[in-house]
Amino acid sequence: MPKLCLILGDQLDLQISSLNKINKEHDWVVMMEIKNETNYVPHHCRKMLFLFSAMRHFNESLKEAGYQTIYIPLDAEDNHHCFVENMRIIVEEKNINSLIVCEAGEWRLQNEMTTWEETIEVPVTICEDQRFLISRDDFIQFAENRKSLLMEDFYHMMRKKLGYLMDDNKPLGGKWNYDKNNRSKYDSETPIPKRLNFAADQTTQEVYSLIKTHFPKRFGNMDHFNEACTRSHALQSLQHFVKHILPNFGKYQDAMLRNEHLMFHSRISHLINCGLLNPREVCEYAIAHFTISNQEDLNSIEAFIRQIIGWREYIRGIYWLKMPQYSESNYFETHNKLPDFYWTAKCKMNCVQKVVSDTHKYAYSHHIQRLMITGNLALLMGIEPKEVHEWYLAVYVDAYEWVELPNTYGMGIYADGGLLATKPYAASGNYINKMSDFCKSCHYNVKEKTGPNTCPFNYLYWDFLDRNKEKLSANHRLFMPYRNLEKMDEDKLAIIKQDAKKFINKHCS
Ligand SMILES: Cc1cc2nc3c(=O)[nH]c(=O)nc-3n(C[C@H](O)[C@H](O)[C@H](O)COP(=O)(O)OP(=O)(O)OC[C@H]3O[C@@H](n4cnc5c(N)ncnc54)[C@H](O)[C@@H]3O)c2cc1C
Ligand code: SF4
Repeated sequence: MPKLCLILGDQLDLQISSLNKINKEHDWVVMMEIKNETNYVPHHCRKMLFLFSAMRHFNESLKEAGYQTIYIPLDAEDNHHCFVENMRIIVEEKNINSLIVCEAGEWRLQNEMTTWEETIEVPVTICEDQRFLISRDDFIQFAENRKSLLMEDFYHMMRKKLGYLMDDNKPLGGKWNYDKNNRSKYDSETPIPKRLNFAADQTTQEVYSLIKTHFPKRFGNMDHFNEACTRSHALQSLQHFVKHILPNFGKYQDAMLRNEHLMFHSRISHLINCGLLNPREVCEYAIAHFTISNQEDLNSIEAFIRQIIGWREYIRGIYWLKMPQYSESNYFETHNKLPDFYWTAKCKMNCVQKVVSDTHKYAYSHHIQRLMITGNLALLMGIEPKEVHEWYLAVYVDAYEWVELPNTYGMGIYADGGLLATKPYAASGNYINKMSDFCKSCHYNVKEKTGPNTCPFNYLYWDFLDRNKEKLSANHRLFMPYRNLEKMDEDKLAIIKQDAKKFINKHCS
């Protein structure tokens, strides 16, 4: 009797562990487009277009590789829009005797999977996801008995374990981390290379029409869709990045420009997260094909490798270590509603307007835009963590809860009280002005501290520090800001707090 192997939308890898457990000739592979998954948060329509197109292309790759597949499209009449219901029918029709699935990335689905054996009434084997560079169990071991869970310690361990950028037992160039060299504002001269564009083929066009019909009001834009949706296009994107863009990745990692949403970022997170690229091959390709001729090159490759073997793996480790309690974190006990402009981009703050409208257009923002514009603002305004989390999970093409939630709660809004970050990433307009050209053409004045034209980040920043001084003032990394707050004239602080209150009330009610 045949087995059935379920492949989820973020498991688009021919080497995935579940496929290794079946026989191509006798067994079946199933993939499905499910409304439950598209609707539990309102995923950006471009994200759905990318994923469904990538899934349909992957189904073709499975067939070419000799697998027997069943693909259930969103609009199929017999689609019950529920994994269990759809599988129950296949089990009966094909006389299936067992189900094989690779573990889910998200706690919600993984938890659901543990009930499938009972509901589908066949044995269910859940295989370990071996695409990560450290297993969940090994991360738990790393975390055990540690006073703090700093990413940097984890990163050193991973560098040694994988042998990447090592010179015998020492880090290449003598230092583990060159982040301090990577904080330049864009020099306005270094050319920003063009990206590869992949014209929408027939499969993508069909998915485009499907999404338009079924999700007419969904947030986002699908025009000029040019994403890599196949393994071969994903590899081309990686090669193009390493050859043309990586040399400047490090230096301008934190820089932002109002007319350039990508800068020198790789824009491959969604390809890794859905399985079209494997993190190990990404790192090994970059290390093998990137020539380190000077310190800037070393800064760039080290930064890139750190993001993947450090941050990405560490974030996933934290997620599985701390879930499900982690999703209830609310360190500052904040309950304000997410402002409408996170969806509409109707806002006079140039930086926010630009990041949200680019998010609407591309389902992408780079790390500093997520962290220091939308994340920073949500932190300063005291938005309810769940609302912030659901927004990030919905709007970005690379967003899956295992990677989005710790980034949002741990880095973006410090809702976990400092498990990930040594201090909140709170900043006034000064930081944004230093790292971008947004302020030059803004309605507000970044230099003003009070008055009707003051940059809202300025008064919101001091109000945030004052509001949370009991929780934050003992943090040695905030020693200077709290000293400056103490020195602030009382009347001035009262005006600042009033301005902050007015702004928050206007946008959060
Ligand atoms: C509030 C917030 C929410 C975020 N949500 C997500 C999310 O839903 N999905 C997601 O993949 N990333 C998320 N990130 C992390 C990061 O912003 C994105 O991985 C990155 O912007 C993706 O763009 P890129 O491929 O151009 O990355 P690059 O800047 O080119 O970095 C290279 C690669 O490193 C990895 N990486 C870098 N930073 C991180 C990080 N902090 N966590 C995990 N992987 C990282 C990614 O695989 C990325 O492709 C979030 C960050 C913040 C601050
Ligand atoms: S002035 Fe303030 S609101 Fe305007 S772009 Fe600069 S930081 Fe953003």
